[in-house]
Amino acid sequence: MRIGVYPGTFDPVTLGHLDIIKRGSRLVDKLVIGVTTNPAKSPMFDLNERVAMVEEAISDIEGASVVTFNSLLMDFAAEQGASMILRGLRAVADFEYEYQMAGMNQQLNDEIETVFLMADVSLQPIASRLVKEIARYGGPIDKFVTPAVAARVTERVARENGR
Ligand code: ADP
Repeated sequence: MRIGVYPGTFDPVTLGHLDIIKRGSRLVDKLVIGVTTNPAKSPMFDLNERVAMVEEAISDIEGASVVTFNSLLMDFAAEQGASMILRGLRAVADFEYEYQMAGMNQQLNDEIETVFLMADVSLQPIASRLVKEIARYGGPIDKFVTPAVAARVTERVARENGR
């Protein structure tokens, strides 16, 4: 049984992430989406909200499940019995960071391979950070996230503005 882990902050999950999840789930028998706490990024949504949004979005993807983690990625992946870590790669911006992470993770555990996938070209520019920025300026985000996620982001921005 081939198990893959797709780790991230998913604040919130976007159509770019979902495309990577669909592609990734075809490569493995079981894909574990690992949602990290990542307080350093001061997320818009807490861990439970981020998990709920991912769960809702992947309900029709066979073999995909969601687990939270707050530990070293390689330890989490080993715990899950994974043989690979999936990451999405967008143009040049992601490369330096991903290159360094994959390199160091390889030193930590050489048995687990990092595999990079590219989303559909139309979905590649999507970033959670920009989705939040567009929403905060009142722009439309429905091309970038599912309707359920768009509703949650809009509601959160309205609440932020009401403060
Ligand atoms: P992290 O905080 O670990 O970067 P993210 O939630 O931002 O978590 O992203 C998780 C993974 O998904 C990363 O590998 C990121 O490069 C990838 N990713 C995000 N958006 C896209 C996209 N539009 N196309 C391809 N990969 C993406």
